[in-house]
Amino acid sequence: MDYVEHVIDLVGNTPLVRLNSLAESASTPVLAKVEYLNPGGSVKDRIALRMVEAAEDSGELKPGGTIVEPTSGNTGVGLAMVAQRKGYRCVFVCPDKVSEDKRSVLEAYGAEVVVCPTAVPPEHAESYYSVSDRLVTEIDGAWKPNQYANPANPESHYLSTGPEIWRQTEGRITHFVAGIGTGGTISGIGRYLKEVSGGKVQIIGADPEGSVYSGGGGRPYLVEGVGEDFWPTTYDRDICDEIVPVSDADSFTMTRSLAREEALLVGGSCGMAAAAALRVAERTGPDDVIVVLLPDGGRGYLGKVFNDSWMAKYGFLSPDHAGAAIKDVL
Ligand code: PMP
Repeated sequence: MDYVEHVIDLVGNTPLVRLNSLAESASTPVLAKVEYLNPGGSVKDRIALRMVEAAEDSGELKPGGTIVEPTSGNTGVGLAMVAQRKGYRCVFVCPDKVSEDKRSVLEAYGAEVVVCPTAVPPEHAESYYSVSDRLVTEIDGAWKPNQYANPANPESHYLSTGPEIWRQTEGRITHFVAGIGTGGTISGIGRYLKEVSGGKVQIIGADPEGSVYSGGGGRPYLVEGVGEDFWPTTYDRDICDEIVPVSDADSFTMTRSLAREEALLVGGSCGMAAAAALRVAERTGPDDVIVVLLPDGGRGYLGKVFNDSWMAKYGFLSPDHAGAAIKDVL
């Protein structure tokens, strides 16, 4: 019989899908690494598995322990899946800008969720970083994976995602594009691809305008999961050959185009990464191959990027556009 023992055995080995109409004018193939096809729905399944196993090996996480983590949702889903398999309790701390849908998913997996204000600095007592630190000291047997400082985060990509991309492109990849949150994805994949290609693969970070990675001062932006107002140790500051800043408007417009034109229903950070990849494709040639990593799916954002009123409220859509299609029919 053809089956796996547990759903976590399905983490990784995601496909590459070529972008068609969106990359029509490019002479370079632009291939999307579709990470929503992981069983928890995002790239974060990979780091969840690796971080938990490393903590078990080191003795930091003991049987019956509690996993406490500040997470925007995706890492939580991965950790909740792994925790369920291995019998741990999960308590997650989220900033309030994270969609309610995403929080409900965590609760559906059996995790407890604590919500904190987004508009406070990281050192503030109510920030989601501070609250999670406090919970770790208060809960007996608690372990904090700390995806922003855990070497198992970039390592999971060095060991799995990087080799997959190299194998899938038969070593022909010339440019790799990804968003930067903790930096684990780009640092782990980037290091692998640089090593295996002898430094030939260009590593390009996509970043929301206003975030520190593209020289901003931490100005707020609406794309979730990427950009930071501090420098995490999981991000290798030497790995990127280039950082492309992308506006919220461009990120969300591209996210919608990915769904409508490529049938890829993905999240806002995917639109951001794809917008950066298509900018790179304007200057590359037919012998190049661009791979862009799309971290998660779009179902958690139906009330935001895929909602006309929400888009219009932030000026990403003209108010007329909302009813335009219906008015055409009437
Ligand atoms: N997109 C989304 C939706 C995410 O949740 C994350 C993780 N914070 C990223 C992109 C960035 O990945 P990384 O943390 O590996 O840099």
